[in-house]
Amino acid sequence: MDQDTHNSLLGLQMPELSALVEEFGQPSYRARQLFEALYHQRVETAEQISTLPQDFRRSLTERGFGVGLPGIEKKFISSDGTVRYLVACADGQTVETVWMPEGDGGEAGDGSDAGVQTGAAGRTWERATICVSSQVGCAVDCQFCLTALLGIKRNLTAGEIVGQVCAVLNDQRVSPPHERVNLVFMGMGEPLLNYDNFMKAVRLLVEGVGIPELRMTAGIAPRIYDLGAESVRPKLAISLNASNHDLRSRLMPINRKWNLERLISAARDFPLRNREKVTFEYVLLDKVNDSAENAHELVELIRGVRTKVNLIALNPGPGIAFQTPARERVLQFQNILMAAGVPAFVRRPRGRDIYAACGQLKRTVELSPGR
Ligand code: SF4
Repeated sequence: MDQDTHNSLLGLQMPELSALVEEFGQPSYRARQLFEALYHQRVETAEQISTLPQDFRRSLTERGFGVGLPGIEKKFISSDGTVRYLVACADGQTVETVWMPEGDGGEAGDGSDAGVQTGAAGRTWERATICVSSQVGCAVDCQFCLTALLGIKRNLTAGEIVGQVCAVLNDQRVSPPHERVNLVFMGMGEPLLNYDNFMKAVRLLVEGVGIPELRMTAGIAPRIYDLGAESVRPKLAISLNASNHDLRSRLMPINRKWNLERLISAARDFPLRNREKVTFEYVLLDKVNDSAENAHELVELIRGVRTKVNLIALNPGPGIAFQTPARERVLQFQNILMAAGVPAFVRRPRGRDIYAACGQLKRTVELSPGR
């Protein structure tokens, strides 16, 4: 791999690649060859781009250009098949990316039912999902999330976001769109706080890598309007986690800046496509936000939004002051929503034993060196 190069090709869109090939005195069709090699074939080094002439490849390398694919520093494999990757950026920072061969039991990115897929190596899964990070750490400070304990270190570049996906696909030897892979941007970070890089990565993942279904979680009201105006965009999932303003401010301090009222208005105004819904993600914390009263309040809060709700029983972790609710409380909450006509799904925790479950992503080499 050539991650020591200063100039990463991964992350460049067609116009930027066109400018680059022109700078090297190459014909314009070389830009399309580069694009194909980077995103479709997912090469690891410039040397592997066999469609380019040797001298062009050599000049790229001599001038410090390389693919810039992030390296896989560590892999943690769960008993349920989930794999958590510790992915290393060129500056030594690491982020986490999770491969879930059978999804998480929430709805698919497009809300559709997923058929059984058979992978290239004969593996069978319902629907593989990659959970991708958008920042190193996170500034949102959700009180139930391990990533929040890191604070925010920096934004990821578009190339680093796309690179996580390419590195995992290469490692799993999976090739979309032939094999069905969904992405969820629910790893480390809040994608809407890294808007430009995030959207650039989304376009490259859809148009280059060939992943049609993407879903993201976000809680930043003003940016939801920007997202709604994009022609290529992921489906919207909003991290809600509370049924009223005070409770949300306690659990997600960012609610004091962009409050619940603005967030629900943004969801209501979000321009939905045919059959599309806004998903609300709701992490259930024992006896904090999971009562019958909370469920009824939630029904009222989201009334009028074309929606579905994903319920996630808290994934416990060191340093987190909340408990996982009992199964009966989760089901009671779900039943109240369903009875009120709100589709509600309980997400299956994936990879809890390797800290890969929702809200558990943190560089666990720091957190628990034995794992
Ligand atoms: S749940 Fe998501 S938005 Fe909240 S602190 Fe964790 S990574 Fe950030």
